[in-house]
Amino acid sequence: MPESAVDSPPETSPDASGHFGPYGGAYVPEILTPVLDELKAAYTTYKDDPDFQNELRTLLHEYAGRPTPLTYCNRLTEEIGGAHIYAKREDLCHTGAHKINNTLGQILLADRMGKERIIAETGAGQHGVATATVCAKFGIDCVVYMGAEDMERQRLNVERMELLGAEVRAATTGSQTLKEATNEAIRDWVSNPDDTFYIIGSVVGPHPYPMMVRNFHRIIGTETRSQLRDAVGRETPDAIAACVGGGSNAIGIFHPFLENHEVQLHGTEAAGGGLSGDHAATLAEGSPGVLHGAMSYLLQDDAGQVSLAHSLSAGLDYPGVGPEHAHLRDEGRVTYHPITDDEALEGVKLLSQTEGIIPALETAHAVALLPDLARSLAAEHGDDAVLVFNCSGRGDKDMETIAANL
Ligand SMILES: *Cc1c(COP(=O)(O)O)cnc(C)c1O
Repeated sequence: MPESAVDSPPETSPDASGHFGPYGGAYVPEILTPVLDELKAAYTTYKDDPDFQNELRTLLHEYAGRPTPLTYCNRLTEEIGGAHIYAKREDLCHTGAHKINNTLGQILLADRMGKERIIAETGAGQHGVATATVCAKFGIDCVVYMGAEDMERQRLNVERMELLGAEVRAATTGSQTLKEATNEAIRDWVSNPDDTFYIIGSVVGPHPYPMMVRNFHRIIGTETRSQLRDAVGRETPDAIAACVGGGSNAIGIFHPFLENHEVQLHGTEAAGGGLSGDHAATLAEGSPGVLHGAMSYLLQDDAGQVSLAHSLSAGLDYPGVGPEHAHLRDEGRVTYHPITDDEALEGVKLLSQTEGIIPALETAHAVALLPDLARSLAAEHGDDAVLVFNCSGRGDKDMETIAANL
């Protein structure tokens, strides 16, 4: 099966108006409707354009470091005593996580559309860094909105973005975190709809973003299929696990397996200090509502005010989730598990000490699920059971938090 960089699956989902079941859509100020239409038209044209595909494929291979390896975790497998565990190594991508797959795709599209200015929102700064990186590579101006509170907490990423030539603007309203940074980015976009391209960092926002960002990350899953064929002689594992913030790394590895109903799909979301307190377990505890241009599950109070999310892991600390995950949850195709901060920290230790891979705190939420999942798969499918987890990013960025909490 050939691997395609901007792989375009049959577009039955979302529908033409961007809905995954009842979720998704485009709830935006009227001034953005023509801007989203222009984006949809451009994406539809370029995703099947051979020159665009070739250029993106080359960038993914020669710049981002794809294909990323599928690593057999022999010591982790032995330690747990269950299914054979494989790690899809997105931590080895340039800039240390999967995010570059999407920022490369979107900047190439922005470049083809003749846009002269890029804006982005960022929480912990990882998407901001991935955006600043591709803007430097393409020589396009870059403004990144970031909550003032997050700028304090993630000083190093602010310095990275500035070194890469981006301007970082502080969002100083409300909780001064990702939600407000996104509000500011949308405000900028409304004021500059003609020359500005908004690079959204996950499978969230108005249509066509959730579909487009998903398709830029599908390469994670398509590579996994062909690598599994070489490693274990079949393209489908018994289960896949991935962490879910907005949901981009998870949908990237899940999506090419959605039609293979024998493959269990497991997402892990951040339960913070536990579900009775502050957390970011949107799919477990949220209810449908509109945030940042789309309908999805949200953490909100009875009056519909969006709640503050909490997780030790900044990348999962968001009160919303991508609309396709909301639909997959309702359909029961994917099972979502809340994982606490403490369980994630155990996950960091487990992967570090058995495999010599220090995972990002986000990734550690997927690692934390592996012991129970690997054992139950072996009980169900026997000694040949295969479990893949998406190692979405490396933990260097989290060392201070990890050291302070372990
Ligand atoms: C940003 C980030 C996430 C969360 O984002 P998704 O869109 O849910 O993938 C997960 N892992 C890492 C390493 C990240 O940097």
